[in-house]
Amino acid sequence: MGEPEVSLPPGAGPLLCAVPTGLWIDGVSVDAVDDSRFDVLNPATGEPLTSVADAGPKDVVRAVDAAERAADGWASTAPRERAAVLLRAFDSVIARADDFALLMTLEMGKALPDSRNEVVYGAEFLRWFAEEAVRINGRTTVAPAGTGEIVVVKQPVGICLAITPWNFPLAMGTRKIGPALAAGATMIVKPAEDTPLTMLLLAQVFTDAGLPPGVLSVLPTSRPAELADTALTDPRMRKVSFTGSTPVGKTLLRAAADQVLRTSMELGGNAPFLVFDDADLDAAVDGAVAAKLRNGGQACTAANRFLVQNSIREEFTAALARRFDTIRTGPGWDVQTELGPMVNAAQRDRVSTLVSRAVDDGAEVHSGGPGIAATASRNPGFYYPATVISGVAPSAPVSTDEVFGPVATIVGFDDEQEALDLANATPFGLASYFYSADLSRCMRVSAALQSGIVGVNRGIVSDPAAPFGGIKQSGIGSEGGSEGIEEYLDTKYIALPPIG
Ligand code: NAD
Repeated sequence: MGEPEVSLPPGAGPLLCAVPTGLWIDGVSVDAVDDSRFDVLNPATGEPLTSVADAGPKDVVRAVDAAERAADGWASTAPRERAAVLLRAFDSVIARADDFALLMTLEMGKALPDSRNEVVYGAEFLRWFAEEAVRINGRTTVAPAGTGEIVVVKQPVGICLAITPWNFPLAMGTRKIGPALAAGATMIVKPAEDTPLTMLLLAQVFTDAGLPPGVLSVLPTSRPAELADTALTDPRMRKVSFTGSTPVGKTLLRAAADQVLRTSMELGGNAPFLVFDDADLDAAVDGAVAAKLRNGGQACTAANRFLVQNSIREEFTAALARRFDTIRTGPGWDVQTELGPMVNAAQRDRVSTLVSRAVDDGAEVHSGGPGIAATASRNPGFYYPATVISGVAPSAPVSTDEVFGPVATIVGFDDEQEALDLANATPFGLASYFYSADLSRCMRVSAALQSGIVGVNRGIVSDPAAPFGGIKQSGIGSEGGSEGIEEYLDTKYIALPPIG
């Protein structure tokens, strides 16, 4: 098929490799059965970058057919060979790091340094799970009554559907593809409509690395509910792994129940960031900038509520606002840029509404805010400025909702118990952060925070070697670490007669 190219805005580029824009099925780029396509926009300009094929129900069946043909062969491929494919793909992503980084900046908006960090982070899941592929262990025990041998083996779960969000176009995919392929499972990835290009380039990389056709398919679509419905009612599917918002996660859990599919859910967060008055204040401000502004605040682990002990609250607020005032906003590919545009107009408008409502209700603006946002909105592109506000009730939407943007909301507390009560007063439980120099407080607070991840005196927590996952309404299961591969393995008990 003749595929459209990615159009580069002035000052960006070049892209050294061609990016596939069809559906990736059976190891090749193909048109959708009904020939439909949809545009992918550049959030820094609001203009189309290119268009991609738009998968419909018949394309889902093609991808499941391909996965079914590939499933037995891949499951029985030696773990060392599966690992070798993952390592070749890892090497190739690193070799093409500039292309992957620029592509993510173009379709998602983030500043190039954020994209480069994601390339390394995202690729590392491929290397980590290549190393895990050769360590899939079962166990054997003598039945306590001496009546036989209990043999436990692990087998690949089968055909999986992965649905990923736009905020980390590479890493949210590799975090699922790495363990699935290492385990011997096959996978159909549905990337977010805003950012399908990175995942299509990754599919090409995997095919070039020797992955057999059908083991990995990528289906961009503008009709995600229809795609999920077709896939999850196909009796050949075994699992759905989702990263995205909690409401969509709940919908998928309901759909998965009908076929009792295995599920992994990485959902929304509302991370508290606590600063106690015994903390190193400079380190806390550094950590706050990282935890808030990485990826333009569009991270599920982004600090959402800054809870600061009242004795240091004004000092911390002023220091954070000074740092936010220096942040350079612009197109992500510009070397000066620290904060790119938000991914799309809807996200920018959502953040803008949350802040404006807080200000209307009496919040004080220390940096950024609606005035500067109004100037930015007259420019093309979906910009929102780095913003610090205080004087917000803990019950205000800007505190209770996941902001998913570059907005820091500061709320005071008097003592440790009040801090914990505020931090845990949310249905979410993905990440929490706190700064304190008191070791016993660090132990107590780490234990008491209701979240799957706790950052102690640090603002960045993600690591492919660590289990990443939420509790409460933030999700089910873990990605990364030695735990991550278990999500793609079934446990089988084989009952043997006694030996001898
Ligand atoms: P989203 O839930 O709107 O979309 C995520 C994905 O689901 C996209 O691919 C989208 O096309 C698809 N989707 C949307 N509606 C669907 C439906 N009815 N059926 C099937 N698929 C559907 O979320 P988003 O706005 O893309 O991403 C932001 C959210 O993702 C935030 O809540 C964030 O916290 C969360 N997130 C969580 C993690 C984590 O690891 N816990 C990581 C990144 C993002």
